[in-house]
Amino acid sequence: MATIENNLQANLLALRQRIAVAAHAGGRDPADVALVAVSKTFSAAAIAAAYSCGQHAFGENYVQEALAKLTALQALRIEWHFIGPIQSNKTRAIAENFAWVHGVERLKIAERLSAARPPHLAPLQICIEVNIGGERSKSGVAPADTMAFARAIARLPRLQLRGLMAIPPACESVEQQHLHFGALRELKTQLAAGGIVLDTLSMGMSADLEAAIAEGATLVRVGTAIFGARPDHASARAANVNPLE
Ligand SMILES: *Cc1c(COP(=O)(O)O)cnc(C)c1O
Repeated sequence: MATIENNLQANLLALRQRIAVAAHAGGRDPADVALVAVSKTFSAAAIAAAYSCGQHAFGENYVQEALAKLTALQALRIEWHFIGPIQSNKTRAIAENFAWVHGVERLKIAERLSAARPPHLAPLQICIEVNIGGERSKSGVAPADTMAFARAIARLPRLQLRGLMAIPPACESVEQQHLHFGALRELKTQLAAGGIVLDTLSMGMSADLEAAIAEGATLVRVGTAIFGARPDHASARAANVNPLE
């Protein structure tokens, strides 16, 4: 436990330094770049250790896995972000337990999230996922459809539309990373011209956060650079090891 905490502290310090350097290079204030620590596959103990280092926003991809950790960590004031693919039978659990949802790309899912958001909680904070790389296999709304989709989301009573989110194709050159992230920023500007004013660009992960921040990211979602490499679910299962332990 002490070792986990020491590593996490060093990793978080180094990461905050990377964010600060990237922000300053772009003439931006590092305080304008929020950090969501992506804790999928890592234990509640690892999250608690990161929390004790001052990290209070965490991102999870899998509902079942996340709910176990949310329950274990109820006493902490964590801001939970759901960043994974959203199945319609999981919308209630997401609406009841998370503060933010980053991967909204279907109106039916958005409607279910709005309907299930409990009245005693603040509206669910929403980012629309945009398929900025135009990959056929990738999820996300096509850039050309984003304006109409944003208008529909903005009408849902229990959601607050905050921004756009994208995961550009992996293993691209730094130049291509800039093109994709710049395109998302440009889309946000176009929406503003159309009357949809958003304050969040959720883009940038461990490998490409510098390019994302240079292009205006206001929120980066970072896992590996904080918690280390993730256990591969399939091989962990084959070896009969629970990746969460
Ligand atoms: C896993 C994940 C991340 C974190 O990726 P790293 O490369 O580990 O920093 C960010 N965003 C989403 C949507 C993810 O699924």
